[in-house]
Parts: sequence; structure tokens; C-alpha cells
Amino acid sequence: MSTLMGGAMSVVLFSASRSFPSEIGGLREWGGALLCLVTGAVLLALRNGPMPKVVSMLGMNATLLWGIGLTLIGTEKFYGVRPSWRMVQGCWGLGMAAIAYWMLAEPDFATRVAIFSTFVCACYSRQLWLVVRHGERQFPTLFFGMLMLVQTLVVIVRGVRALYDGGISVDLLRPGPFLSVYMATSSFMVLMLAVGFMTMATRRLQTILERRSTRDPLTQVLNRRGFADVYARERALMQRERRATTLLSIDLDHFKSINDRYGHATGDRVLVHVAGVIGKALRASDQVARFGGEEFVVLLPDTGLERAGNVAERIQEVLRAPRKDDLPAYTASIGIACQLNAEEDLDGILQRADGALYRAKALGRNRVEVAEPASLPTRVALG
Ligand code: GH3
Ligand code: MG
Ligand code: MG
Repeated sequence: MSTLMGGAMSVVLFSASRSFPSEIGGLREWGGALLCLVTGAVLLALRNGPMPKVVSMLGMNATLLWGIGLTLIGTEKFYGVRPSWRMVQGCWGLGMAAIAYWMLAEPDFATRVAIFSTFVCACYSRQLWLVVRHGERQFPTLFFGMLMLVQTLVVIVRGVRALYDGGISVDLLRPGPFLSVYMATSSFMVLMLAVGFMTMATRRLQTILERRSTRDPLTQVLNRRGFADVYARERALMQRERRATTLLSIDLDHFKSINDRYGHATGDRVLVHVAGVIGKALRASDQVARFGGEEFVVLLPDTGLERAGNVAERIQEVLRAPRKDDLPAYTASIGIACQLNAEEDLDGILQRADGALYRAKALGRNRVEVAEPASLPTRVALG
């Protein structure tokens, strides 16, 4: 039953590897690992069948060990660690040579089990280490890590029993309480490990999709939707704590001519550069978004006009300063709007910030203008 489910799970993993984004590595290797384990189980079942027993038993060891090695490569790829192909291939070759020796030249079942267990234990414990080192603190990782730990312990117990109690105590073909547990855990656990791995991959997919839906792919700052979420949270805080929030609306000057003169690709690099400049001028709690084209919006929580004016000036200063890179010189106009009243919504404050921005454009560009407060008619002048 586990064998059949292992086959089905490998189909799931292979098809996920084709459809999931490339950031999620290791699915193909885990799919291949399950196929190997299924093949190993079939060879074990065929040991008394048409082919010579030695062939089926050697084949079983080879496919099982290779499958376990593939799980390690898969987990390494998942965490972006360089896959240790050479080590796996080397250990597999040595392990198989040793198993063949103790099967054909000097038959010794206990030693074969110990060799097999050492290889499996090394692969699983390295994966456990990877999970501890790189794993996100989330349920799927914890689930996978716990399964890996249990499986490693079971393999260690089998290897140690093989050495101290002799081969019969761990012979899979002889019934006994430990073997029932071992058989149940090994075939079932490998399946569970694959399910655990798939759960981690699905969780990562969710994170990637969430990120993609709230981030601008070019500059990696928030997009309009992500910004609306952040603003909604800030507005709730404003209502509770009665604090001021300020918005900057930033638009590059004559950006179209940069595209026309230097090409769209250079235009894109300018957009990435400006997102970096804005990001460096902000505090950790401030948020920046790209609202399409070459317009950026900055949310400065718990900030009045004075600090907002300083931030805007700092951004402009950096943009005006001579640079060492090969990007063309460019400037930006900035409109500032301060929100003191939580009744105003995002559209309202954006409209005021954009109004100030248009005024900055009309007054010659490369400057900062401040919008009139929503309820007060007086205009605040920046120094
Ligand atoms: P102004 O000073 O009045 O803002 O002039 P402008 O040329 O910056 O503004 P305009 O709205 O006329 O042109 C915006 C240009 O931005 C036009 C469009 O081709 C370009 N653009 C929009 N999105 C992108 C993008 O993702 N990459 C690049 N390279 N260009 C973009
Ligand atoms: Mg522009
Ligand atoms: Mg524009």
C-alpha cells in the first residue's frame, strides 16, 4: 500500500516540480527518490521471483541507497545549498561495493545492515542539520524536521542492533516486534517525509505568491495593493493613537526622455536605482511603493511635515549628487501630504500629495511642494 502511495506521491512531486516557480528547488529529486524507493520495494518483493536472488537484493540496496541520497540532494536544493552530488555518488559507490563484498565474498548480513544504516543515517542527519540551520520557523518545517529526526533514530537503532545483536535481529524477512515497527516506519515514514517535503514546498509557494501579489517585480518595493494593506494598518493605528502620518508622492522628471535616449533597459535600471535611494533615506517602519510607471509613494508613519520635508530633501540631494555608476543623471519632483485626521482615506491623502506633486512639476520640477492640510486651509511652507 505504502509502495503504491509512494508511486502516486512521486507523480505529485514531479508535476509540482514542473509547475512550481524555480525558487522552489528539490521537488524533482524528491520525486526521483520516491521512484527509487518504490523500485527497491518491488525488488524486495521479487527476491524469490524469476531473477536470481543476488541480483534482486543488490538491485534493491542500490536503488534504496540512491533514493535516500536523492532526498539529501533535494533538500539541499530546496534550501539553496550547493548539492553534494560527488559525496553522495562516492558514498553510494563505496557503500555498494562493501555491500556486494559482504553479500558475495563473505556473506554477513549484520555488516551489510550496518553499512546501509550508516549511509542512510548520514543522509538524514545532514538533512536534519539543514532544516535546523535554514528552515523557517513554521509548522511544515517542524513537521518535516520531526519526521526526519524519528527516521534517523530508527535507522541508528537498526544499525546498532545489527552490529551488537547480530543480523537475525534486524532481518526484514523474519518477523519480530522490532521489524514490524521498522517496516511500518521505514516505508510509511519515507512516504510521510515526502509529504512533509511537499508541505514545505507548498508553504514556500504561498509565501512567493503572497510576495508577488504585493510587490513590484522590477524594484521589489510594494505595489499599489501591498501599499493599500500597509496604509490600512497605519490608519487603524492613527485612529487609536491620534498620530500624524505623512505621504510622499515622488515622480521622476522627464523620464520619458531617459527611455527615449538611453533605452528602456536603462530606464528600468534608473527605476531600480531610485527605489534603492528612497529605501536608504527611510526608517525601518517607513514603507515605499511603486505606483506604476515612474511614480513612487512613501508612507511615513508617526511623522509630521518637518521630518517628511527632511526625508524628501535628502532623497533629492542624493539624486542630484554626482554618481560613479553609468546611469544618466536624473531628478525627481516630490509632493508631500500630511494626514492628521483618520477620517481621511487613502484616495484623499493621495489626491492631496499628487496635487502638491503637480504643483512641483508646474513650478519647474526637481523640487518639493507641500499639500494643504485636509481640513485646514493654511499652506505649510517648507524651509
Ligand atoms: P514628467 O517630468 O512630467 O513626469 O515627465 P515624464 O516623461 O517623466 O512623464 P511621462 O508620464 O510623460 O512619461 C512616463 C514614462 O515612463 C513613459 C513610459 O514609457 C515610462 N515608463 C512607464 N513604466 C516604465 C517601466 O516600467 N520601465 C521603463 N523603462 N519606463 C517606464
Ligand atoms: Mg515623470
Ligand atoms: Mg509619472
